[in-house]
Order: sequence, then C-alpha cells, then structure tokens
Amino acid sequence: MIIAVDGPTASGKGTIAKALAAHFGLPHLDTGLLYRAVGRQVALNGGDPDDPDDALAACEFPDALLEDEFLRSEEVGGLASRVSVHPSVRQALYERQRAFALQPGGAVLDGRDIGTVIAPEADVKLFVTASVYQRARRRWLEMTDREIEISLDAIEQDIAARDARDIGRANAPLRAAPDALVFDTTSFDRNQAIAEAIAAVEAKLA
Ligand code: C5P
Repeated sequence: MIIAVDGPTASGKGTIAKALAAHFGLPHLDTGLLYRAVGRQVALNGGDPDDPDDALAACEFPDALLEDEFLRSEEVGGLASRVSVHPSVRQALYERQRAFALQPGGAVLDGRDIGTVIAPEADVKLFVTASVYQRARRRWLEMTDREIEISLDAIEQDIAARDARDIGRANAPLRAAPDALVFDTTSFDRNQAIAEAIAAVEAKLA
C-alpha cells in the first residue's frame, strides 16, 4: 500500500505521515529532506541555488548529510525551495523516491508532488493544509522552544514566499491531486490531526 501525503510547509504533513507509517507499519520517507540536502550541499560547495548547474552538481550529496540537524532550519528550507524549481534536480531525485514508493509492502512518502508525480497510483492521497498564520505560529512555537530568536512576522513572510515559489513553479508545482483527500489542520492540535488522518485513511481503505 502506498500512502502519499502532500502539502505546504508546516501544515502538519510530516507529523501525519510519520503517524500513518507507524500505524500501518510502513516505512516513511520525508522527501523534503532530499531537497534540503541539495540546498545545503549547494551552500557547502559555494554555489548558487538559482543556477541549474550548481544545483544539479549538489544532487551528489553524501548520505550522511541527511542526518545533519541543520537541514531542518528555515535557512536550508529556503535554499531547498530554490533548488527544487530546477527540472534537472527533480529528475535527479525522482528514481530514489520512486524506488522507495515501490518497495514490497508499500510505503508512506510526504512532500509536494507525491500524489501527482512520484506515486500517482498511490492507494491513498492526503493533501494536508492549514492557514498561513497557523503554520507560521506552529513554526514559531517550535523555534522558540529551541531558543531560536525570530519574529512571527518574519516566519509568516518566509512561509508565504515559499508557498508562492512551490505553487508557482512550472515543474511539479505544489497542488492537490484531483483524487486527494484535502485535510485542513488549521483548527486541529497535533493529536486531533493524527487521529483524524488515521480515520480518513481507514475510511478510504474500507
Ligand atoms: O517539506 P520541506 O519544507 O522539508 O521541503 C523543503 C522544500 O523542498 C519545499 O519548500 C519544496 O520547495 C521542496 N520540495 C519539493 N518537492 C518535494 C518535497 C520538497 O519541491 N516532494
């Protein structure tokens, strides 16, 4: 069984994908981490994330980079969204994601284009979303918890810019597949979002 979970940044899609994977006993891939590793590697190479050749060269990142905590930072998130517009980068990361989706027994993948490009045949597709303000607030609380000083306003602007880039790009833009269940988590806390998502997937499979 393949479960595709797509949605914008800080929508709760990662939390939901992890919980679905644990509930259904499936392996999980956070595909955003691959784009984040490319973004980080461009910076380490001293390259330009907007240059397609520099971005493609960074697709040869070492696997150990995926464990780097810094990949989760807003800074690297911004770099990831810039390298992800290049079709050559998306192509370079395609096989790895496709192979993960097709492993025997199935998998849960989360990202932006899982239901539309990577696994259009997925058994269940969720498109997780929430208002920009609520997503910024969650990210801000998370960062404040980690003692990172940043204003809510700055995060809201960053999230809006990232959404615009992800939705507006020509190649594999962020959008719900026509057969996706759209799941708005604006008014849910973490536990409610997980419980509702599990119930929605179970109802779809029934
Ligand atoms: O999900 P996360 O915020 O970690 O993703 C970082 C960036 O990587 C996104 O803003 C998006 O531009 C890109 N991405 C993508 N396709 C995916 C996953 C992430 O373009 N499947």
